[in-house]
Amino acid sequence: MRPEILFPLFTSVSTLKGVGPRVAPLVEKLAGPIVRDVLFTAPSGLIRRTTTTVDQAVENQVQTFLVTIDGHQPPHRLGQPWKIRAWDGTGFLTLVWFKGHGPHLERQHPKSARRAVSGKVERPEGFASELQIAHPDYIVTEDKAGDIPLVETVYPATQGLPSRTFRKFALESLERAPDLPEWQDAAWREREKLPSWREALTALHAPANEADLSPLARPRRRLAYDELLAHQLALAQRKAARRSYPGPRIPAGPLSEAAEKALPFKLTGAQIRALSEIRGDLASGERMSRLLQGDVGSGKTVVAMLAMADAASAGLQSALMAPTEILARQHFETIAAPLEALGLSVILLTGRDKGAGRAAKLAGLASGAHHIAVGTHALFQDDVAFKALALTIIDEQHRFGVNERRRLQDKGEGVHLLAMSATPIPRTLELTVFGDLDVSRIDEKPPGRTPVATRAAPTPRVPEIVERLRGAIAGGAQAFWICPLVSESDKLDLRAAEDRAADLAQHLPGVGLVHGQMPPAEKDAVMQRFVDGEVSVLVATTVVEVGVNVPNASIMVIEHADRFGLAQLHQLRGRVGRGTRESSCVLLYDPPLSEVAQQRLDILRRSDDGFEIAEKDLELRGGGDPLGLKQSGFPAYRLADPVAHRDLIAVAADDARLILARDPDLTSPRGQALRALQELFDWKPTSALNEAG
Ligand code: ADP
Ligand code: MG
Repeated sequence: MRPEILFPLFTSVSTLKGVGPRVAPLVEKLAGPIVRDVLFTAPSGLIRRTTTTVDQAVENQVQTFLVTIDGHQPPHRLGQPWKIRAWDGTGFLTLVWFKGHGPHLERQHPKSARRAVSGKVERPEGFASELQIAHPDYIVTEDKAGDIPLVETVYPATQGLPSRTFRKFALESLERAPDLPEWQDAAWREREKLPSWREALTALHAPANEADLSPLARPRRRLAYDELLAHQLALAQRKAARRSYPGPRIPAGPLSEAAEKALPFKLTGAQIRALSEIRGDLASGERMSRLLQGDVGSGKTVVAMLAMADAASAGLQSALMAPTEILARQHFETIAAPLEALGLSVILLTGRDKGAGRAAKLAGLASGAHHIAVGTHALFQDDVAFKALALTIIDEQHRFGVNERRRLQDKGEGVHLLAMSATPIPRTLELTVFGDLDVSRIDEKPPGRTPVATRAAPTPRVPEIVERLRGAIAGGAQAFWICPLVSESDKLDLRAAEDRAADLAQHLPGVGLVHGQMPPAEKDAVMQRFVDGEVSVLVATTVVEVGVNVPNASIMVIEHADRFGLAQLHQLRGRVGRGTRESSCVLLYDPPLSEVAQQRLDILRRSDDGFEIAEKDLELRGGGDPLGLKQSGFPAYRLADPVAHRDLIAVAADDARLILARDPDLTSPRGQALRALQELFDWKPTSALNEAG
């Protein structure tokens, strides 16, 4: 239940003065539907209004003048502005209005009246001696001059809602903000010299100077920490709740040992570590919620296979779900033979299974005749039932919704969850994305992989690259050529890819094209021809099939590489360099390359470690969503900046753990205050925190 003290903030924005039926949708668009949302909308900058005289005026600055109205100049012709000449003893200032306010202005500001006027001072082109203010921000009687703010916050603009109007709403929402009981630890507040919540909000909407708006200013850090703590607390609560839920006890079994012995290679140290962490969870009697993180090709699938063999040893079933049919098929091909050699029955279930064939597979799952199911969304359809599902493994879990995953987990009792992801999240941000999961990392590549030689080249050098490709293809190599979706228009992007494919086909044999608008079956068919080696150059618009494994492909060309996140480029590059061939990656860019873009591409050339690349990219690009994290279930913070405030993330996670250790149900006075905090940010243990939940 929401505490009553928060009610004034949890009412519609239309309760704010001046927010009527026309304005309300605009405020909702910019901030959100309730007063709290206006309160949590941070200004983007600040205008400082100095008061000065005309002879001291500085062009293009926002300034305030005390003037006497000298006279009105109505327009001579339609379309000309209405002008007021004003005088302050040191010079003349022209005030300009482009719309027909004339008679009204004349009444409001008669000749000889004294006025305070404020706005951006300009010198119109061709009138070197004339200073003007077009559409003054303020023009008030002299005695009201004090009402013109010296410092004025600027809010992100939206069409039809001027920043100054929104500022009024923000200030009113600030007035409505109650004094809330402190939820932060007193000693920590003291040490960090953090203001109270209300003081911090006041500094946000009524800053004294530019420094107050820096993400590093104490009031901003306080608000950021509040938000991060609310989130971490909810993640920790959810994790604790899950821990207390029993899962079937699965000890490490003989089948898994046999499967491991039969592998044609030795597990890497990182794989052994990940596997033993997973086994620890499976044997614990509590339900596992673990994420297995590792670069593409780091060997996650093998680890997953051994965990499934453990489940089978215990007489229990597993399901492995992949986002696309081709990925599901590849997983199936990887694990079916080694597991079947041990006498286990593994099936592939996708949208293609129909009729009697499908019915037979379902019957086998229901009877327990099949031990392991690999598949796509087809796995969680309503009529799919398992005899004893105990472990679900989800590949590229961010591509499934929470509900889809639940539907699969609900097909068993206390089903263990292992999610696999190749999206490199920098360590510093891991807690914000996966705070409610345990994480195992495979941070070591199987031996014998040669690094992919990576270089950047300007697009005009494509003919040379094609020439070299021709030689490589003659020698049996295969290549990916990615034409990413970069423009606003899918049609244009598709055309660019089609043109590229047509162009390449004139110079190279075996060019194929896949794109997002193709029917899945057709797309799969082209992919299959690439896997089979009939297509030697695969032109693709999207990275949908990033997980696909074609060991013979050794060349990756990426157009518009400068517009990709580094993590994504790294994932794409991971598609090659899997076989024995020397591999290369060409990052095409449209010259000239900015310095930052240059540095970013350099990171890729120098490093082969997805986590390191993600971390450096983060540092280089600063704020925003540099890594495309939102797609990976990254939370959209209102006041915290995951980059500028990243030092606070781990502190908040620790704090949350401590709080719950002492007061698991948040019943202490601080606990009560923290509940209000969670309400404020909508982060309760039950809300959809992220896709990984
Ligand atoms: P991921 O799922 O992380 O993308 P995979 O499990 O598909 O990676 O492994 C990629 C390739 O590397 C597979 O061909 C697999 O057989 C091989 N592989 C996995 N682990 C090892 C290892 N320890 N040593 C050598 N090769 C390995
Ligand atoms: Mg994989």
